[in-house]
Amino acid sequence: MKPPASTRRPKTGSKTGAKDASSRARDRHRPPRIGFASLGCPKALVDSERILTQLRAEGYETVGAYADADLVVVNTCGFITDAVEESLDTIGEALAENGKVIVTGCLGAQPEKILARHPNVLAISGPQAYESVVGAVHQHLPPAHDPFLDLLPPQGVKLTPRHYAYLKISEGCNHRCTFCIIPSMRGDLVSRPIADVMREAERLAKAGVKELLVISQDTSAYGVDLRHAPGEFRGQRYKASFEGLAEALGELGIWIRMHYVYPYPHVDRVIPLMAEGRVLPYLDIPFQHASPRVLRRMKRPASAADTLERIRSWRAIAPDLTIRSTFIVGFPGETDEDFDMLLDWLGEARLDRVGCFPYSPVEGAAANALAGAVPDEVKQERHARFMERAAEISAEKLAAKKGRRLRVLVDAIDGGIAIARSEADAPEIDGVVHVRGGGKLAVGEFADVVVTGSDTYDLEAKLAPGARGAASAATTKPLSS
Ligand code: SF4
Repeated sequence: MKPPASTRRPKTGSKTGAKDASSRARDRHRPPRIGFASLGCPKALVDSERILTQLRAEGYETVGAYADADLVVVNTCGFITDAVEESLDTIGEALAENGKVIVTGCLGAQPEKILARHPNVLAISGPQAYESVVGAVHQHLPPAHDPFLDLLPPQGVKLTPRHYAYLKISEGCNHRCTFCIIPSMRGDLVSRPIADVMREAERLAKAGVKELLVISQDTSAYGVDLRHAPGEFRGQRYKASFEGLAEALGELGIWIRMHYVYPYPHVDRVIPLMAEGRVLPYLDIPFQHASPRVLRRMKRPASAADTLERIRSWRAIAPDLTIRSTFIVGFPGETDEDFDMLLDWLGEARLDRVGCFPYSPVEGAAANALAGAVPDEVKQERHARFMERAAEISAEKLAAKKGRRLRVLVDAIDGGIAIARSEADAPEIDGVVHVRGGGKLAVGEFADVVVTGSDTYDLEAKLAPGARGAASAATTKPLSS
């Protein structure tokens, strides 16, 4: 049973035995081959998908082993010290096993760090620099003459399973949280026009995607930079705003899950859409803390909001609303009182899914200059107490679901058990539903189940009568209220 964790993607290039350069010399009749390692968060994953989609459109082939590739692209993460190390190690492995390596992604914004360890990389670019990456690939491994356009699947190349996909709606962020260096790497908010987002969403739905995970740095700020300029989708006009986007995506008839939402007042207007089942009753809100003093020092968006009151009012409209969040404990200057306030807040808010990280300094972040560093042992102790409380709440909330009928989406089959997710479970970061007798379900199929048990993070269930072949994403219904 897995605790909530931050998302970490597998590499798409594996690390099997090395070949020398001559054995990799290209047969001019075969397409050029790319190895790819994708590290970091879902936003980086979407960048990887775009790069791979472009390269596939141009006739490049992707291969699973670095040694079988003509060249390797490493999409790095530079968010925290561990991620930087993992990125540098991955570049080193790719160099050792292949020799021709192009680096992109968040760590690419600090090329000196990469060059200090790996001076032989062919090219370095920062996040979202799709053209630069593809240009560097062209320079070091020219494309084949035939573009193989007919080989490109209509939804592009996805690194997620076929039945769910991430939908990136904007880049960058207008906030300046003191612990974060993302705005300095990715710049201010730049939203995609809503018609453009909806074209991609519809293409994915038509290609068989059953669940879209909406991501950005600040999803609730979507369209602010566009002054909410409307766009057309299926003959209707929708505003480029959080609400307009939820309305338009709600027309697709698949699961729509909103990540990285901040509790701005206008978020209230999307809750009725959740109650109606147009978008999933699920909000991923990185609250980070509850003490106003700490939030001010973090310079968090919407830090003055009375979040407990907001959560109460949302649940009054959408009682099944699942709230996921992440928190930082041990931020510089956090006192015992601040931490107790956070624990009390969590007890009141009773969030469904919670991740927590002991504060660790990020190179270049403004928080490094703040006084009041919290000793490591205090951070660890607070982290353990926080997670213990969060686990109790999670277990209680899941136990209360026993006997309910839920719609689930199947992610995998393990013998006679289907590993599925309900509306309350985002892939990879939340819990799962183990469906007994679900071995004959198909991956990507919706089914109705009845909850039979639970533990701290996951549910046990059995197939409900008539569960098979539920084609639609229609919302959860209680068996008894
Ligand atoms: S909202 Fe804060 S933490 Fe999130 S990307 Fe923007 S600056 Fe970073």
